[in-house]
Amino acid sequence: TAAVTATELTKVYGTGNTRVSALRGVSLAVPHGQFVAIMGPSGSGKSTLLHCLAGLDKASSGRVRIGTAELDGLADGRLTRLRREAVGFVFQSFNLLPTLSAAENILLPLRLAGRRPDGDWLDRVIDLLGLADRMHHRPNQLSGGQQQRVAVARALITRPSVVFADEPTGNLDSRSGAEVLSLLRASVRELGQTVVMVTHDPRAASYADRVVFLADGRIVDEVTDPTPEVVL
Ligand code: ADP
Ligand code: ADP
Repeated sequence: TAAVTATELTKVYGTGNTRVSALRGVSLAVPHGQFVAIMGPSGSGKSTLLHCLAGLDKASSGRVRIGTAELDGLADGRLTRLRREAVGFVFQSFNLLPTLSAAENILLPLRLAGRRPDGDWLDRVIDLLGLADRMHHRPNQLSGGQQQRVAVARALITRPSVVFADEPTGNLDSRSGAEVLSLLRASVRELGQTVVMVTHDPRAASYADRVVFLADGRIVDEVTDPTPEVVL
């Protein structure tokens, strides 16, 4: 089975004559260990698709599976647990808690899930992300790139089957952005992670194994092993 499977997803916002069809029948399977980027113009449905795949929003019709778990069939409690444990999130605005240290921010998802940290995994994630000497810093003592690396570590800490990233480099300069993308790619290669990333930046998308292009709520094209030229 794939890590994420979407079948004929549609999403309609609003009612009556204010209806907007954000997704018009999207089917997509993301194999385990793939780094996929979703690109498309503003308003093409990228965020909506990501939110539906991640269980943050409900599609109007169609199905989403994370591994073998059908999102629609899950009771609220199991959906919450799946969100906490089987998926990780990285947002454009890092969403770190300002009063907690980097280490406390990274461990938060485990705390919420009532799980103990696996020391080896924690060390691997922190090493991979180059955060070993930043663990006691608060977010405001870290650069934007470092904050996003903490956010990536937080997303990885539960060993989720999929990490969803929504414009993860949107608030970073190009150098920090490139660093964060290299680390997402390294987490795919070295930790076997699956990553689904939304971006409108062709350079960001060129780090992915596969790029899916959305337009007007539909998948209109895709490429594998993109070069920046292809994505542009
Ligand atoms: P993208 O991420 O590609 O910019 P979105 O998924 O944000 O696209 O939006 C797709 C379409 O759905 C757009 O027309 C947008 O205005 C509309 N839309 C998104 N979210 C909402 C919402 N909460 N309510 C109404 N319309 C929405
Ligand atoms: P992006 O293009 O990165 O998706 P947007 O600025 O379009 O960002 O959307 C930011 C938030 O506003 C999203 O949560 C989206 O669902 C919501 N949104 C987008 N378009 C609309 C809309 N027309 N009406 C209500 N909410 C919207």
